[in-house]
Formats: sequence, structure tokens, C-alpha cells
Amino acid sequence: MLSDLKAIIFDLDGTLYVSNELGREINRLAIAYIAELKGTGTAQAAALIKEMKAEISAVSGLDTTLSVACLELGGDLRELHRRFAEQIKPKAFLKRDERVVDLLKILSSRYELYLYTNNNLALSTRIMEILGVSKLFRQVFTIEDSWLPKPDRTAFIKILHEIGSEPEQCMFVGDRYDVDLRLPATEGCAVFLSSSTDELLGLLKIMNEENI
Ligand SMILES: [Mg+2]
Repeated sequence: MLSDLKAIIFDLDGTLYVSNELGREINRLAIAYIAELKGTGTAQAAALIKEMKAEISAVSGLDTTLSVACLELGGDLRELHRRFAEQIKPKAFLKRDERVVDLLKILSSRYELYLYTNNNLALSTRIMEILGVSKLFRQVFTIEDSWLPKPDRTAFIKILHEIGSEPEQCMFVGDRYDVDLRLPATEGCAVFLSSSTDELLGLLKIMNEENI
């Protein structure tokens, strides 16, 4: 099944690194934004986001992203990301793991590597620099490319077109099945779910076992 593989498309946050602290910081800023927008306290804004996520998930049956919840609450994604880009200092939360760098180096010698994230370019760039993986991707697709957060079929089709690959030539790697992988899997791509660095390192084992 993986014999046609040409391109691997990685998610960034929660996939190439795992940091609960950075996740909390992103949530904190989103809550502060919604609180400002709605004229509420932060506890109430946090509850609004939580309720909205639950409401959307109840209808879709899928995991709901923070971006979609903020949009549904009347937020503007550009403003939310302007705040993330300006205020989040990832250096305080992340450190490089050479095993991840080595994994991507090995994979980049065999496949085209791409990054596809709901994060913005400024913050993603800083994160990739800290992780030491900036130069290993042929192209980076961020929220600014379409302002359509994952999962989105229009954005997905556009990316495959830009990288010049058919679905069966692609593998998507991510930490949230509903957000990163369900759509690519439906469209015929290979997918790999990883929620820890150890699981991510297992990707190479699979590739070696498939002897591709
Ligand atoms: Mg992720």
C-alpha cells in the first residue's frame, strides 16, 4: 500500500512536539480574546468555548478545533492569530529533540516532506526553528494560505494540487484523527496517528518494515 508513497505531510503542534504548556498558552490567549469580544470574565469565556466545542461536536460527531469554536463565537481568525503570533514565545515551552530531527532527515532523503498546520506562519516558523526542522520541509502550509482550518476539503485539494501528488502517493501524519487524518484517509491517503514523540519515531519502523 505504501509502495507509491512520494510525499509525507506533517501536522506541527502535538505531532512534531508535544507540549501541554504551549497548548495551555494558546488556550489562554483564545479565552482572553473571547472574553474581550463578549465583555465577560475569563472563566465565562472559557465556558463559552467549551460549550461551543461540545455543541458543534454533538452535531458533527467529530472533534472540534479551537479555531472553529472561536469563529462560531463571533471571533475573527485573523485577529486570533495576530495575537498568537505576537504574544506566544514558544522558546519558554519547547526544546529540541534530536531524535525528531534525525527522523525527518532520514525521511527527507526518501520522500518529499511538507508541513500543514492550523497555526500561523510567524509562530510556526519560530517553533520549527527551535525544533531544528525548518529546512527539512519543501513547503509549509499555514492558516494564512486559505483561512480555512483543518479539516477542510477545499484546502486539502489545493495542497495536493500544489505539491503535485495524487492522494495514494501521500501520507498524512497528525495527532488528532478527526482534524488531521479523517479527511485524507477518506480521500485515499495513507495516515499515521501520533500523539507522542515515541509514537512519531515509530513511523520510521513502519517505513523500514514495508521496505520502502
Ligand atoms: Mg496537532
